[in-house]
Amino acid sequence: MPRQTGDRIFGVETEFGCLVSDDTLGTPESAVELVKDYLFHELKLGAIDLHARDDVFEPAQSGGFLMNGARLYIDAVGSHLEYATAECRHLKDLVANDRAGQRQIVRAIKELGLDDALFVYNNSVDHFGGHTFGCHENYLVRGDDEFLNTSVQMLYPFLVTRQIFSGVGRVGGHILTAGGLRPSYQEVMENPVDYIWVSHVYSVVPDDRVPFQLSQRADHIIKTIASRVRFNRALINPKWEHFYSHDGMTRLHLLFGESNQNEFAYALKVGTTVLVLRLLEEHRVPERLTLAQPLIALREVSRDQDFKWIVSLAEGGSVRSVDLQREYLRLAEVYRGESTQTDWILDNWRQVLDDLEKDPMAMEDRIDWVAKRKIVEEYMSEEGVGWNDDALHSVDLEYHNIDPERSLFYGLQEMGRTKRILDDLDITMAMTDPPQNTRAKGRAALVEQVLSRKNPRFYLFDWNGVALDRHTYVEMPNPFETYENVGK
Ligand code: ATP
Ligand code: MG
Ligand code: MG
Repeated sequence: MPRQTGDRIFGVETEFGCLVSDDTLGTPESAVELVKDYLFHELKLGAIDLHARDDVFEPAQSGGFLMNGARLYIDAVGSHLEYATAECRHLKDLVANDRAGQRQIVRAIKELGLDDALFVYNNSVDHFGGHTFGCHENYLVRGDDEFLNTSVQMLYPFLVTRQIFSGVGRVGGHILTAGGLRPSYQEVMENPVDYIWVSHVYSVVPDDRVPFQLSQRADHIIKTIASRVRFNRALINPKWEHFYSHDGMTRLHLLFGESNQNEFAYALKVGTTVLVLRLLEEHRVPERLTLAQPLIALREVSRDQDFKWIVSLAEGGSVRSVDLQREYLRLAEVYRGESTQTDWILDNWRQVLDDLEKDPMAMEDRIDWVAKRKIVEEYMSEEGVGWNDDALHSVDLEYHNIDPERSLFYGLQEMGRTKRILDDLDITMAMTDPPQNTRAKGRAALVEQVLSRKNPRFYLFDWNGVALDRHTYVEMPNPFETYENVGK
């Protein structure tokens, strides 16, 4: 399908949290190896990397590409199980491809008989150790220096305030303390939890002064932009890798995201970001929206218990997050009528902002943090406990369980109390079928081809090309192409 104006490629990577309850399974790191091996070797859902390039990929055999165009692997640094969706152009395809990966993991766990021993979470924080892991969004954007160094900065005000509808919510928080002293409010705002500082002087401790916040990642984001993503803790990372670049476009790697359970929230988060990136490429966002201190605003919005979500602007004065979002929405209205997807984003963005202004706590059907907060509050009143009860962290975590039979989120969804954009059939189809309008389609066909070989000795898959054997390399540089006849 040729590229239309405003068309964009996107994909999301999720690192999963993981717990084991059975000692015989060993550590979570060894347990996820079992799942990965089962998916590739027993279910034959994908082609595990037989040969990996040192500079890009994890060691060979740590995972590979699936027949739905996605990539499932265990990352070499954190030993996390990670699922990276196929390249998508439609929001529905993205959410379906993402959920399909989770269903495959659940299926493997059940077929291995491990469903009472191994639990996987679509979650970005370890409540007990204070570590955080990523849910990265990737967008194809203009790849010139002007965009990546300058224009992209006008993404911060949007990103920092986007959490009012995209945040997944979190019980409590973490802070960095020195010598056991409790930092003041101002010090908490100015000092994110940064493990580089942890030593005999500094330590990371739970912050029991914040009962609940909007974002799981806000306490841990240490930079606005970083080209080397040490520990993935910047807002964005414009990775200038040649293998993602095509026709003057490159991949923008967005690190401040978190794992939405709610399908609608997921789609709205990515959809609004797609429109804002286009505004930036076209220089439509005025500089007066620049924030005074984006990282402080990030934590202030996340931790605001009064739902006012006020941020300070660089030019002086302050604005409510809802109104700042409305500024971006107003600008994005120029794209109305371009596609049904664009109109869906604009309509729902407006509605969500209006409803947030009226009564945020009435939005459990569309916003993860609201649904989670309500579940936690219900638990507190049933058990007669307060915000400092440790069990609340487990309630929080179970919201993110990827197993529909266990997850507190899926309990709500089952009762019809969440707004969906998919039905279960879409997810089932996406377990084996790639998106039909990107290079994921061609790659998926090659995965099947390799899987049908009796004894594959060498092959190498990457996002932008596939080596089928030592002499045949299929290039797929254009993510908008389907390359479905290659390799035939
Ligand atoms: P990590 O951050 O875990 O080290 P990574 O970010 O380099 O890894 P992958 O985990 O392999 O990369 O995920 C790549 C993601 O980028 C996928 O979700 C994929 O859909 C998406 N993607 C691939 N090509 C493009 C592109 N040209 N533009 C935007 N996104 C892309
Ligand atoms: Mg990744
Ligand atoms: Mg990544």
